[in-house]
Amino acid sequence: MTTASVGTLIADLLVQEGLIDQEKVRYALRVQAKLPRSQPLVAVLQDLGYVAEDQVRQTLRNRRVDIRLGDLLTELGVLSDSDLQSALALHKSRPGTKLGQILVENSFINEETLLDLISVQLAIPFLRMDRLLVDEQMARRIHPGNLRKMRCVPVRDDSGDLLLAFEDPLSAPPHDVLEKVVPGQFDIAIARHHAVETALENLQKPPAKATQVSESLVVRKVNELVETALADGVSDIHIEPLKDRLRVRMRQDGVLVPREDLPKDMARALVSRIKIMAGADIAERRRHQDGRILYDQGGNKVDLRISFYSTVFGEKTVMRLLNNRSRLLDIAELGMQPRTLQRLKEDVLDVPSGVTLVTGPTGSGKTTTLYGSINYLNNPNTSIITAEDPVEYVIEGINQCSINAKIGITFEETLRHIVRQDPDVIVIGEIRDKFSADTAIQAALTGHKVLTTFHTEDSIGGLLRLLHMDIEAFLISSTVVCVVAQRLLRKVCDQCAREHVLAPDEIRRLGYNPADVRRLVFRRGTGCAHCNFLGYRGRVGIYEILVLDEPVRDALINRKTSYEIRRICADSTGMVTLLEDGLVKASEGLTSFEEIIRTLPRLDKPRPIAELNRLLGVRS
Ligand SMILES: [Zn+2]
Repeated sequence: MTTASVGTLIADLLVQEGLIDQEKVRYALRVQAKLPRSQPLVAVLQDLGYVAEDQVRQTLRNRRVDIRLGDLLTELGVLSDSDLQSALALHKSRPGTKLGQILVENSFINEETLLDLISVQLAIPFLRMDRLLVDEQMARRIHPGNLRKMRCVPVRDDSGDLLLAFEDPLSAPPHDVLEKVVPGQFDIAIARHHAVETALENLQKPPAKATQVSESLVVRKVNELVETALADGVSDIHIEPLKDRLRVRMRQDGVLVPREDLPKDMARALVSRIKIMAGADIAERRRHQDGRILYDQGGNKVDLRISFYSTVFGEKTVMRLLNNRSRLLDIAELGMQPRTLQRLKEDVLDVPSGVTLVTGPTGSGKTTTLYGSINYLNNPNTSIITAEDPVEYVIEGINQCSINAKIGITFEETLRHIVRQDPDVIVIGEIRDKFSADTAIQAALTGHKVLTTFHTEDSIGGLLRLLHMDIEAFLISSTVVCVVAQRLLRKVCDQCAREHVLAPDEIRRLGYNPADVRRLVFRRGTGCAHCNFLGYRGRVGIYEILVLDEPVRDALINRKTSYEIRRICADSTGMVTLLEDGLVKASEGLTSFEEIIRTLPRLDKPRPIAELNRLLGVRS
C-alpha cells in the first residue's frame, strides 16, 4: 500500500464513522496538493480542525484495519517520510530485527509512542504502568517457560478481566494456540519491555515463605518504598494487609494510587522492620501504635510519622512523609488570583492585629498557606512564635514549638506560656477546642496578630463553628479579620492535556443554566509518562477569602443564617466562592471538570466566568 492510499483509506474510515464528510476530504486533498512540502492527508485533516488526533486513533481502533507500522507513523505525522526511509534502510542492514526496535534504538521515536501506535494498529489496550499488577494465581497455572518464551504476563484490568500483556504482541502466537496454554477467557494487551521483564523476573523468584524472607530483603524493600515516595513527591505510603496479599498504595497530589502488591508472607517481617525503625513495640501486634523515623536520605533528614493500625488481616502501616508534602512557598506562589493575593496582603496580613483563620479539610493545603503567610510576615523587627503539632517546616528566624504530649509539652501548657514570650505574631497550629479558640481571641484582643487553621468546609462555616463553640458573637466579630477557605485540586498534566468542551449536562452540574452558558471549555489529561499516566501532575490551590466588613460583622452579631451571611459576603465584600475560583482556574485550563465535582462545595449558583475574571483581576 502506498502512503497516499493509506491516507485516503483512513479518510474513508473517518467518513464512515460520521466524523467528516466527503466534501471535507476533497477540500483537504486540494489543500494537500497545494502545500509546498508534502504532508500526509490525515495530518492535513487534523490541521484544518476537521478531526482530532484522538478521533483518528479511536477510529483506527474501532475499524482494526491492516496498515503497516511505518505507513501509520508517517500518515499520523509522527515520523517524517525521510526519517522513515532512513529507518527502513537501517532495518534492511540488520536482518532479524524489528522496525519498531530500530526506530526506538535510534531515537526516531520513543518507546511510548511506538507502543501507543502498535496498540492503535492492533486495536488492543496499552498498559502504560512501569509495574504490572500480575495475576500470580493465573501465572502459576501457565508454564513459566511459556511465559518467558512468549514474553508475556497475565494481568487483570480495572474491571477484573484477564489480559495477557505482551512486550511484542506482533510476534504473539495466534489466539487458538494461546488458548491451549492459557486457561479461561483473555484478551491481548501491550506493555513496556521493562515492565514485562521485571514481572517475569519476579515470577521466577521462589514464592517467599515467612522463614525465607531475609532480613536484608526486607530492609531493602522498606528503603526502596521510602526512596520511591520521596522521588515522586508522595505524601503518604500505605502498606495494607489484604486477604491474600500486601497492597502498597501511595498518596500523590492528594489521591491514593496503587503501586504494587507484595506477597502476604512478607507482611510480618516488613512491619517489624518499620517498627524497629520507628521505635515501636515489635512484640505488640494487636494494639494500634505510632512512631517516628528520621530517615537519612543522603545526609538529608526526612521526618516520617508512622501509624500502625490493627486490622482483621494484620497490621496496616501508614507512613507520612512530612518534609515531602511541599516546599515552603512564597505567598505569591500559592496560586492565588491577582486580586485575591492583593487582598490577603493588604487587608489581612498587613493589618497589625486580629485573628486570621485558614480553613479546609485535611490535605487542602492549609499548612502551606499558613507557612507562606508566616514567611511573608517574617522580618527582623517582628517576633513570631508558634505552637504546632508537629512542626512541619523549620523557618529561619522564628520560634517554633512542636507539641509533644509524651514529654509533657501539651497544647494547653504551650498556649498558656506563648503570650508571655512578648510575641507580635502568634501561630496556633490548629483550633481544636474551645480552649484554643479562646486563647486565639484573647491574644487578638490584647493586640496580637494570630494565625491559625480550622477544620471547616468553607469560610462562613468557620465563623459559624466558632459561634457553636460558645464564643460570644461580638468577640468573634471584633477579633476575626479574615477567613481563608481552601482546597487543593489536581493540575491537568501539560504534556497530555486535551480540550474538554463541556456538555449541557456537565454545565448544569456546575450550577449554571445551560441556556445562559453557551460554551465552556476546560482541559483534561489523557495520561502520559510525564504524569505517571494519571493525567494530572502537581496541584493548584483554590481559595475563598472572606474579609470581614461592617455588614458581615453586623450579620454575625445578629445571628443571621449561613445563607444570609453568604449572600451579604458576596454582595458587600466581593467574595469569590471556592466553586467560583475553581471554575475560573478550570477555564484557564489548570484543573478539570472532574476535580471540581470531586472536591468543591456547590452551594450557590456561580456567577458567569467573565464577571469572576473581573472580580479576581484575571485578564481573560
Ligand atoms: Zn500527562
